[in-house]
Amino acid sequence: MIYLDNSATTRPLDAAVFAAREMLEENWFNPSALYGQAVRVEKKMDACRASIASALSAKPDQVVFTGCGTEADSLAILGAAERFRGNRRVLLFAGEHPAVLNTAAQLAALSQEVELVPATDEGVIDLDALSALLNERVGLVSCMHVNNETGAVQPVAQVSRLLQEKSPGALLHVDGVQGFLRVPLDLRAAGVHLYAVSAHKVHGPKGVGALIVSKGVRLSPRLAGGGQEAGLRSGTENTAGIAAFGEAVRWAAAQEGAPERLRRMKLLLFERLRESIEGLRVNGPAPESGGAAPHILNVSFPGVGGEVMVHALEAEGVLCGTGAACSSKKRGMSAAFCAMRAPRWAAESAVRFSFGFLNTLEEAEEAAEAAVRCYRRYQGFQRR
Ligand code: PLP
Repeated sequence: MIYLDNSATTRPLDAAVFAAREMLEENWFNPSALYGQAVRVEKKMDACRASIASALSAKPDQVVFTGCGTEADSLAILGAAERFRGNRRVLLFAGEHPAVLNTAAQLAALSQEVELVPATDEGVIDLDALSALLNERVGLVSCMHVNNETGAVQPVAQVSRLLQEKSPGALLHVDGVQGFLRVPLDLRAAGVHLYAVSAHKVHGPKGVGALIVSKGVRLSPRLAGGGQEAGLRSGTENTAGIAAFGEAVRWAAAQEGAPERLRRMKLLLFERLRESIEGLRVNGPAPESGGAAPHILNVSFPGVGGEVMVHALEAEGVLCGTGAACSSKKRGMSAAFCAMRAPRWAAESAVRFSFGFLNTLEEAEEAAEAAVRCYRRYQGFQRR
């Protein structure tokens, strides 16, 4: 099997599985308890906080563990909005993941005004449009780090500069689920107040996420309870998941040159496809450009449906995704494709190949050969 659907989820690292098992078998104590065994568990959680923080040039006490990336996004956006004084404006980038976009209804219920910031044709936030929407009433802007479908890297630092200029005092939330550890970001230097990550996208387990909260930012918790995680996320922590997350982050952060290696694999696949498939369309920024994330390639195969390609590739032992992996079972155009005004055929024929730290160049090569074979097989049956 060649697994190229790493933006949907990644294979947990052996060391992460080992760390989780060790927590479940040996260190299963409640980290809030007072005895030594519990303190040991708390120390292990703190080690994970330190690894996440260090990868983002943040401080360990800024890391709040959550149940997933989705929850981290909700805590950031709704937790901030609940503390607004009166009615404010919240700007969400139109190409966001549903974890962000679908907070709009709850924001409206909190009497906040929500506006979507449009994207360019390459799926990047339109900075001119953002600038026109910014004013003193804006309380929060949410702009993801890397788009989960197209791999478009968003100009987070430029967004932050615009905010400081036109909406000083507004918070910047960044959904970093697809960018964390693959596109470097210094949260302080980039002026990011809130940053969401998820363990299962970086070779950790599902069901663990974290929100990195800048000093001085006040949020209302989403859950009422025992006040764990500095009062921001009640509920006994998923200590096994957190230990595994920590192990995965430590390992990934130590892989020197990993983003370049991911980029080489992606470009090899892209070059092979471009050479052999006439009319291949790239969805998102040019793959070789700095505006494209190193690990995601989203292309449309003219005349062959994305689902047909995905199943044909599966039969060849290559696993990849169509459209948005988080909602690939839903019909219709995804938010990212709508936001960049992609033609319908492109959305229907889109295949997303996403690389992880465990892939190899040989796999990229084999996947390209398989994709060309699959395309040739089905291109004759195209709809007229
Ligand atoms: N944000 C982005 C950009 C994602 O790609 C995903 C998952 O695909 C999420 C948020 C949700 O993360 P989780 O699955 O941990 O809830």
